[in-house]
Amino acid sequence: EFDLTAPFQPEFTTKDQITNRHKIRPILVPSANGDRFRLNENGLRSVLGHSAIQNRKVVIISVAGAFRKGKSFLLNFFLEYLYALQKSQQNDVPLDWLGEETQVHGFHWRSGAKRDTVGIWMWGEPIMIENHLGENLAVVLLDTQGAFDNQSTYQQCTTIFALSTIVSSLQIYNVVDAIQEDSLQNLSLFVEYGRLAMQHAKQFGKPFQSLCFCVRDFKAPEEFAFGEEGGDQYMDHTSPDQPDELRATRDQLSECFDKLLCYLLPHPGHRVAERNSFRGHVKELRPVFREEIRKMVMTLLSPEALQPKIVNGKPATCKRMIQYFKEYAATFDS
Ligand code: GDP
Ligand code: MG
Repeated sequence: EFDLTAPFQPEFTTKDQITNRHKIRPILVPSANGDRFRLNENGLRSVLGHSAIQNRKVVIISVAGAFRKGKSFLLNFFLEYLYALQKSQQNDVPLDWLGEETQVHGFHWRSGAKRDTVGIWMWGEPIMIENHLGENLAVVLLDTQGAFDNQSTYQQCTTIFALSTIVSSLQIYNVVDAIQEDSLQNLSLFVEYGRLAMQHAKQFGKPFQSLCFCVRDFKAPEEFAFGEEGGDQYMDHTSPDQPDELRATRDQLSECFDKLLCYLLPHPGHRVAERNSFRGHVKELRPVFREEIRKMVMTLLSPEALQPKIVNGKPATCKRMIQYFKEYAATFDS
C-alpha cells in the first residue's frame, strides 16, 4: 500500500552532497495501519544510511498539527532555504533564495478535502549544512500527517505525534488563528504520551528539545507584531478570561521542552488560500507573508540555530538515529 523502496538514492562525496533535487521525493517512514503502524526501515536507511554520512550529527525538524493548515506548504519554504544555503556554502557565493521566479515545491500540498496517509513523511535525503562550528550536519525534514483530523483514530494521531516529537530536535506545532485551549490540551496529551514512552530511556534533563508554535493567518498584528518577538509576547501574555488550565498546560510544556518559541504569520493572500490553480509561485504571495516567512525560516534554520538531535545527553549521528527510530517505533507498536 505504500512504496517500500526509495525513489532515489542520495549521493555524497566525502566533502559535499551531490543533490539531484528534482528526483527526491518524501518517503513515508512510519505509517498507520489500523491500530498498528509500521516502520519503513528501507526508506529510513535510504535517507540516513549512506556510509559517507553515518557519523555526521543529525538535525531533525518536524512540522505537526491539524490537517489542511499549510504544514506541507511551510516545509517547502524550508527546502528552498536549505538547498539555497547549501549551494551558497558549497560554491562560496552569497545566499540567494525566494526570488521573484521561485516556485516552492517538494512536499505534497494541495487544497481540497482528501487527505494523505496517516504517518510521517521524511524528505528523501538529508540536506548537508555546515554550521557555525564548521560541522557538517545532516538536516532531515519531517511532515507529520494526521493530527486531529476526524478520519484517523485518536490513538493513531497520538502515536504519530509522540513519535515525531521524540525523534525531532525541533518540533513545529502548526495552528491557525490562535493557540486555542483545545489544541493546547491535545498537545499536552501527546507530549505526556511521548514522555511516558521515553521513561525507560535514561534521560537527563528535559525530555524534548525545541517546540515552536507557528500561528498561521494571525489576525491581530496591531496587538502582537508578526514574527518571533510578537510570538513570544503572544505566548507569554495572560488575559483575565484565560482559564488556569491553559496556564498549567503551558507550564507543563516548558517542563518538557528545553526551549519554547512562537512565530506569528500573516495570511498568505487569497491566491494561496482559495485558488485551486495556485502552484506555489512566490510572486503570487502577499508581500507581507513573503517577508515574514523569509525571516522566520532564516532565523529558525540558520547555521547557528540548527540544533543536532540529542539522545541520552549526546548528539546523535545518522547511524544512531536509524536505531533510535526503530527502538521507539517498537515501543509504540504493541
Ligand atoms: P497541510 O495539510 O497542513 O499540509 O496543508 P497544505 O500545506 O497541504 O495546505 C493546504 C491548503 O492551504 C493549500 O491550498 C494551501 O495553498 C493553503 N495554505 C498554505 N498556507 C496557508 C496559510 O498560511 N494560510 C491559509 N489560509 N492557507 C494556506
Ligand atoms: Mg500536508
